[in-house]
Amino acid sequence: MILIDGKKVAAEMKEEIAAKVKELKERGEKTPHLAAVLVGHDGGSETYVAYKIKDCEAVGYKSSLIRYEDDVTEEELLAKVQELNEDDDIDGFIVQLPLPAHISEQKVIEAIDPKKDVDGFHPENVGRMVIGLPSFVSATPFGIVELLKRYNIETSGKNCVIVGRSNIVGRPLSVLMSQKAINATVTVAHSRTKNLEELCKSADILVAAIGVPEFVKGNMVKEGAVVIDVGTTRVKSDQTKSGWKLKGDVLFDEVAPKCSFITPVPGGVGPMTRVSLLHNTLLAASGEIYG
Ligand code: NAP
Repeated sequence: MILIDGKKVAAEMKEEIAAKVKELKERGEKTPHLAAVLVGHDGGSETYVAYKIKDCEAVGYKSSLIRYEDDVTEEELLAKVQELNEDDDIDGFIVQLPLPAHISEQKVIEAIDPKKDVDGFHPENVGRMVIGLPSFVSATPFGIVELLKRYNIETSGKNCVIVGRSNIVGRPLSVLMSQKAINATVTVAHSRTKNLEELCKSADILVAAIGVPEFVKGNMVKEGAVVIDVGTTRVKSDQTKSGWKLKGDVLFDEVAPKCSFITPVPGGVGPMTRVSLLHNTLLAASGEIYG
């Protein structure tokens, strides 16, 4: 069994990005600039945005953090999105989700200029990805594919079962895995899927993106399978200072001995999600996607 070290791969990618930024600066070109909009004080969102800003600093990007209180109106937020769309110094930006219930997330996503949509959530980018045009691909699916590539994991003709059909993980990943360059045969499972255990057991590549800790047990995995655990649920723990620890969707101790490759939680998909945003920001700065 080979443990897929997402932390190590992400660190390599960060170094590659930092080297490109250095070259840009040496040539006197513009420094890539990512902006993040954060509404309210949700603990998870605060942490994610802090990481994003820290990652920008680490590779030499410029970053801006724009904060609003929970009671910001939809109009105010949409006006800020418009301002960021028009700001030539900002190459890409994200609006951290979730947003308070009185704001339509979809309206906000659709207001973002697709050329600056480094989260890859805008319908134009999703559509471009589906038909195989250059696009900003959302961070987690991109990170997973990059892990498979960098570990030289054979995907062509393989049965890939993805459990979870969210717009940010399962569904876009299913599109990427079925693309010509990857050539997997993909099944997307969800809460209404029948015979899930059997289906998972047919997978050469099994991706768990469910959000239910330790859902995938040893008896659901084929000998020699590649298992990608996307799940990150905070569970109470008296062994950590914070009082919680992250659990994946896979019962690691039971599943790992059966796998050819497996991602741990933490240290698997999570770091790749982070670095993928940096990757997209560089693409946005270079204008490679939309010319
Ligand atoms: P989500 O939007 O809640 O989607 C969960 C999916 O799992 C849904 O499609 C749901 O089916 C399916 N599901 C739930 N219970 C199931 C069951 N008992 N059997 C089969 N399918 C079931 O979640 P998400 O945003 O995709 O995230 C999934 C997990 O990945 C979460 O733990 C999240 O924190 C984590 N995550 C991690 C990263 C990272 O960077 N590591 C990034 C994103 C997300 P229905 O559609 O039928 O409801």
